[in-house]
Amino acid sequence: MHIGLFRERGGERLRAGVIVGDEVADVTDRLEALGPAGPAGLWQPVIEDPGAIDLASLADGAARRPLSEISWGSPLPRPGKILGAPANYRAHVAEMGNPNTIYEWGMFLMANSSVIGPEGTVELPYTDVRTDHEAELAVVIGRTARNVPRSEALDHVFGYTALLDITIRSTEDRSTRKSFDTFTPIGPWIVTADEIPDPNDLGVRLWVNGEQRQSSTTALMIYEVERLIEYASSVVTLYPGDVIATGTPEGVGPIVNGDRVVCEVERIGRLEVNVSDRQAKPYASREGEAAAASV
Ligand code: MN
Repeated sequence: MHIGLFRERGGERLRAGVIVGDEVADVTDRLEALGPAGPAGLWQPVIEDPGAIDLASLADGAARRPLSEISWGSPLPRPGKILGAPANYRAHVAEMGNPNTIYEWGMFLMANSSVIGPEGTVELPYTDVRTDHEAELAVVIGRTARNVPRSEALDHVFGYTALLDITIRSTEDRSTRKSFDTFTPIGPWIVTADEIPDPNDLGVRLWVNGEQRQSSTTALMIYEVERLIEYASSVVTLYPGDVIATGTPEGVGPIVNGDRVVCEVERIGRLEVNVSDRQAKPYASREGEAAAASV
């Protein structure tokens, strides 16, 4: 199933939808009856307990809208946590000029407040620091995972989506460079795990203004999905609705004001966002630097 959060034309409120052909079935009321929205949004009760409702019949009888008349928000507006996999493709490691891989780096956290949805706008923070796109497969956790061996890892996955890990190239820690508001577009929807027989065999592609920049496959990940879950769950407890960004292949490059970025993950779909510099300022004028200079 393809599930997500959408807005009706002209509407503000996010509603829960299941894609049925070229329509979306509005299951908002049915989800709200199950329990409160949590970190994963309206879908939280289902992600936490897929047995709480029969997903296959969830859309039966629900009101439908043509896909052409709605817009998607992020299916996970503010995940409990987002773990990132740095340097998880060898060709990307090579282009970055640092020999370390995920084996040396481990994983990192990015702020859940950085999430935006499809058709959102990435706000560049600085006028004079390179800001890059990273197209990635994202794993949505469905069952609490702690010290899970890789042989059981996929039992803990609810589904998959696409993610852009936007990053500034400067000296700060990854958690700063990747956590600016709007730096983690997620979507356009979640595809449930039953429809992805092998997450380690999915094409990952990205275009900027129609020019292809990234084209690879998750088959080339250094830590495949099972090993990412095994490793991550040896460090932290993974909860339903948490997200693992699985790393980006080669071809990362800068985005600038006015760009249109399209991230595609095979079997999932296309996540499209815009880029703006309307809030950008010179790096030297950033708050921390100004304070240090006055000491
Ligand atoms: Mn990344």
